[in-house]
Amino acid sequence: MLIDGHGRRVDYLRISVTERCNFRCRYCMPTTPFEWVSHSEILTYEEMFEFVKVCIDEGVKKIRITGGEPLVRKGTPEFIKMISSYAPDIDLAMTTNGYFLDKFAKELKDSGLKRVNISLDTLNPKKAEYISQKDIFDKVMAGINKALEVGLKVKLNSVILKGINDNEIIDLLEFARKKGAMIRYIEFMENTHAYGELKGLKKDEILGIISKKYSIKELGKALNSPASIFEIDGGYKFGIIDPHKHDFCESCNRLRMSASGVLIPCLYYDEGQSIKGALRDGDIKKATEILRDVLKNKPEKNRWEHNMADSNISARAFYQTGG
Ligand code: SAM
Ligand code: SF4
Repeated sequence: MLIDGHGRRVDYLRISVTERCNFRCRYCMPTTPFEWVSHSEILTYEEMFEFVKVCIDEGVKKIRITGGEPLVRKGTPEFIKMISSYAPDIDLAMTTNGYFLDKFAKELKDSGLKRVNISLDTLNPKKAEYISQKDIFDKVMAGINKALEVGLKVKLNSVILKGINDNEIIDLLEFARKKGAMIRYIEFMENTHAYGELKGLKKDEILGIISKKYSIKELGKALNSPASIFEIDGGYKFGIIDPHKHDFCESCNRLRMSASGVLIPCLYYDEGQSIKGALRDGDIKKATEILRDVLKNKPEKNRWEHNMADSNISARAFYQTGG
């Protein structure tokens, strides 16, 4: 069993399989060059799988594949298949921008993927192009429809930005409700890779806008998640992810692995230890020792407020950690 230095059980592994992405979302990696991490620096899927097996043997129950964009990396469905064949009951999920789902949703479902979180910030094709710096809308819509059609459980993620998509909060909610998918609004987190004129809406501002049309009941925190869940008339539930709070930390059950094999105990800390060397040497015992050491030193709570006071922005980008 994986227990951290504060007695919390860690049973959720998030794997960023690539830092690469075919979008350039303004809030994530607006100016990152397209080819910046070479293939030799990242772990192969076979190397990742050796570590995944250790985690599953130690009680990990949920694995999320993320990125960058996980579907730009070749072999992602096969990686899903490796995991689901080893542990058919594992809760296997993916976070994706949706662009390639039209092509891959069926294969992913057949490979054992159960759930997919798809980023959808706007229902306006021109705005989608403005935010992602690419003509994406029709492909993302086709991806959402295909994921639903093949029977994947779908959630939608929207980062709400002032003056850009804050007038679509209700449209996005009603779109998600019509599709039978939960929407989660994510507060924009400033970081050194994406800052400047962008301003995000905070949880209360988002709720204020929704409450103009619907009465809202707060249901509390989702289990082991930074999302607060709300319900509107008729029973539809939506979430708001407020990464600036640390009331989620005391039940944090997460460990992250980057594409290059760095184990990251907390999204908000730059510390991490690499298991790449150990995995490349086939030394799984050493990789497991590093895992235990990382968990021993998992911070008690995030230091977002501390970061803000110190430097005003976080040095971590979501595309490096998978969010
Ligand atoms: N490419 C996939 C996608 O977009 O869904 C997966 C990786 S992406 C880094 C994971 C999530 O992080 C997305 O839902 C995205 O909207 C969110 N994200 C990226 N940068 C963010 C930021 N600065 N603040 C808040 N959320 C952010
Ligand atoms: Fe790519 Fe996802 Fe970042 Fe957008 S949020 S640039 S889709 S990794």
